[in-house]
Amino acid sequence: MSELEMLRSKIEKTTLQILELLNERGKIAQDIGKLKEMQGVKRYDPVQERKLFDLIAEHNEGPFETSTVQHIFKQIFKASLELQEDDNRKALLVSRKKKPENTVVSVLGEEIGNGTQHFIMGPCAVESYDQVKLVAQAMKQQGLKLMRGGAYKPRTSPYDFQGLGLEGLKILRQVADEEGMAIISEILNPNDMETALDYVDVIQIGARNMQNFELLKVAGSVRKPILLKRGLSATIEEFMYAAEYILAQGNDQIILCERGIRTYEKATRNTLDISAVPILKKETHLPVVVDVTHSTGRKDLLLPTAKAALAIGADAVMAEVHPDPAVALSDSAQQMNIPEFNKFMEEARAFANLVQKTPVS
Ligand code: PEP
Ligand code: MN
Repeated sequence: MSELEMLRSKIEKTTLQILELLNERGKIAQDIGKLKEMQGVKRYDPVQERKLFDLIAEHNEGPFETSTVQHIFKQIFKASLELQEDDNRKALLVSRKKKPENTVVSVLGEEIGNGTQHFIMGPCAVESYDQVKLVAQAMKQQGLKLMRGGAYKPRTSPYDFQGLGLEGLKILRQVADEEGMAIISEILNPNDMETALDYVDVIQIGARNMQNFELLKVAGSVRKPILLKRGLSATIEEFMYAAEYILAQGNDQIILCERGIRTYEKATRNTLDISAVPILKKETHLPVVVDVTHSTGRKDLLLPTAKAALAIGADAVMAEVHPDPAVALSDSAQQMNIPEFNKFMEEARAFANLVQKTPVS
């Protein structure tokens, strides 16, 4: 055996010894965890961790630097703590691990999340009774009931139209009652939540507020469904944690909405993260909607992205419709007019039927 081979064999043996000791330490950590659980003591103990760090520093004879060894041990401490936590307790309430079956959000008899695909349409912002009425009538003709429309608008510039506020909510409710629609509308301020409950059927929390934790907590305390949009630069994990804030307060009627994320790409307003849909469907039990208007910001991409959403298994598609988009006070470039909406519906429906009826061989 050459010297190198001998050393290699020695290092293999030492590695296995470390492995054995590491797992032995893991078992002791588990026992400590159980004892602490019985005594109702917190698992993480910074005083004990400090003691171990000092012990390491005192006994370290090298060649590794004390800081290096401490860094390695920090990972061991972290892994041991994870070992002590039982998996089910750690699982998020929004996760499939916690609840394997789909959550179905029922809005005016429309069941979102039960496998049937829906369309949520309506103007970007409420501008007038006539404007909302025209859209509602067109939707009714298409047999649609889920109408969106913003009364409080989160605008990038403070000088842009901020929405009609309460007056907008009143218009939405009036038209909804006249036409048999359900209303989905965004609330920006926790103080407006209570008032909004009298007017809307689903509270929307917009992308800019996905991590407005106080708003999320208030949304969790109401007994109305919440449509939560993904933040402009939010990871899927952050999106799930935002939904967890709502669920943790007791409201499980949550619809997730993928609305595109900010990337370097400038061809579209945002980049539609289509793979977020199956990921969210797999990781959570909540219904997932794709907003094709805000993700693309382009009228010509509404239908292709809606098809992608339907094909990939989204529970609903959201898009904006305005009787005269050219004069709309917000998102004028990407809202469909009524004939465009009718065409969109016809083609999207045909596609959805095709997808659902495609025989699998
Ligand atoms: C909206 O849906 O009206 C809206 C403002 O969208 P987002 O929060 O996704 O930008
Ligand atoms: Mn809009």
